[in-house]
Order: sequence, then structure tokens, then C-alpha cells
Amino acid sequence: MATVGLVAHEDYQKHDTGQGHPERPDRLKALHAHLSETGLEQDLMAISPRHAEGYWIEKAHTPEHIANVKSRCEQGLTHMDDFETMLSPGSYDIARLAVGASFEAVDTVINHEADTVFCAVRPPGHHAERDRAMGFCLFNTVVIAARYIQETHNLNRVSILDWDVHHGNGTQHILEEDPSIFYFSVHQYPHYPGTGALSETGIGPGEGYTLNAPVPAGTGDEMYLRIFDQMLLPAMEAFKPEFVILSAGFDAHRDDPLSHTQVTEAGFAEMTKRALSIAHDHAQNRLISVLEGGYDQGGLAQSVEAHLKTLLNA
Ligand SMILES: [Zn+2]
Repeated sequence: MATVGLVAHEDYQKHDTGQGHPERPDRLKALHAHLSETGLEQDLMAISPRHAEGYWIEKAHTPEHIANVKSRCEQGLTHMDDFETMLSPGSYDIARLAVGASFEAVDTVINHEADTVFCAVRPPGHHAERDRAMGFCLFNTVVIAARYIQETHNLNRVSILDWDVHHGNGTQHILEEDPSIFYFSVHQYPHYPGTGALSETGIGPGEGYTLNAPVPAGTGDEMYLRIFDQMLLPAMEAFKPEFVILSAGFDAHRDDPLSHTQVTEAGFAEMTKRALSIAHDHAQNRLISVLEGGYDQGGLAQSVEAHLKTLLNA
């Protein structure tokens, strides 16, 4: 059995988004209860996160955006400018703790203390743009994790694989001119946030390093796996990533209230296998996954279980 780390912290449930919000603390509460009930938690290596410093957040965001998040939290405001990314007084620090989870995950994998690590964090990150919060996301954790890998561990090529049902507009836009980080996204389309057409392939020197696979409502496991096998795997053969980051949302699940795709737990397990094979073939098995969306509590918990079991059995 492989050694799989789980980054968790009670503060992730203290990011309070208010009554009725889909991105709510109960998501993680239900996930941890499920991992405990199934006994899976005992098979995982517990890892504590740290707070990412401001200079790391600036690798993805403008100082103005960072200051805006901080000051809104200090003022007790309940939302960012988009009126859907909610805040509570601790949210600035909790978002930095989500980014710092990825740092601990990366270090743990690079130092061979675990084979792979899953970060069970909130708030999510992949919609956060360089200069603003968006879609429940404050700071773009996977982008900052990729920069951390490059600058702390002297690796050059990083792949971010995003199977959240929504296109990671923030991740794409921040990285689209950079040929050193490959961004792949499979997502329902047309759907929120509206970006992620097949024709969006990167800009300037980054041309060819963004790969979008838009899928229609109703798409299930079979099509997802065909996209992995026929689009993603050849692209990774060419790019040869030295580290793989999964931007792992589980809202493509068939029970999810925010999407109309039909992915099952078995589908997430199979996608995990593809990601592991990419990491095995090119990146000396270096892989971490970071939670993004997933809004049906049962669907999320069972999908993460399938994801973790696949990582354990690698
Ligand atoms: Zn999503």
C-alpha cells in the first residue's frame, strides 16, 4: 500500500459563508465523518498545514487583491466584490492556510515522506483571478503551489489537471502566457464561468500549454475517460511534467446540485489512475491533489473516498 497524506485542519470549517451557501463548512464535516466511519482515515498520514506568507500569495495575485481580502475580513464584511464569494472574519487567514496546505503537501512528496497527498481545504481556489475573488475562491491555491514547486524545489515543468466541473478561469488566465506550467481542464460547457472553449490554448509563449476539454450536460464516465486517454495523455507525453497537481473538484458527480454531468465515484477513481500514470511516467510519481468544488455531501465524501483508495492502492 502506498503512503498517502491528508492535509486537514479544523480552521477550514471556520470559513463561514452564511446560511444556504453551497460552499459551506458541512462539506468538510461530512467528508471527515465519512473518512472516520469507513476507517480510511487510519490509513492516511495526517499532515498539518501552515499559513502561506504574503509574498507567496503575490506569485498569483496583485497586492491590491490581497489587501482587499484582508481589509474586508478585518472590517467584518461578509462578501467580496462579486457578492457570491463570502467572507467571515477569519477567511483571509484560512485562505492562506489552504494555500499553505499545498506547500506541506509538496514538501512531503518531494521529501518522500508520502507518495501522494490530498489537501482537504476550503475555500477553493481555481476561479480566483490575479486581481479579484470569484466563484467562492479567494486565492488560487494550485497556481501558487506550482510556483512554490518551481522556486523551492528547482523543478521546471508542472502540470495542473483540473477535473472540477467548472472551468478554472483563474488558473488559466494567470498562467496562459507561461509555457512552464501546463493547464488542463475538463468541464461542463456551456456553464459557469463561461470560459474554457476548446479554442483557448494559451497566449504568446504559452500557446499550446493550455488544453480545454469542454463537455456537454449529461456527460458521464466514459467520455471523461476518453478525454483523459485521447487528449490529456498524449499532451503529457509531449510536455513531460516534473510534478502533477490535481485541481480536484468533485462537482462533476451525478448527484451534484451545481452541475449536470454524470460522473460516478468509479469515474473519479479511473481519472485518478490516469493522473497517477502521468506522474509515474514523467514526474517520478510526484503528485498532490487539492480540493476545489463538490457540493453534494454524499457525492463528495464517496468520491474523495474513491480518489484516496486509488492513491493508496497505487
Ligand atoms: Zn466547481
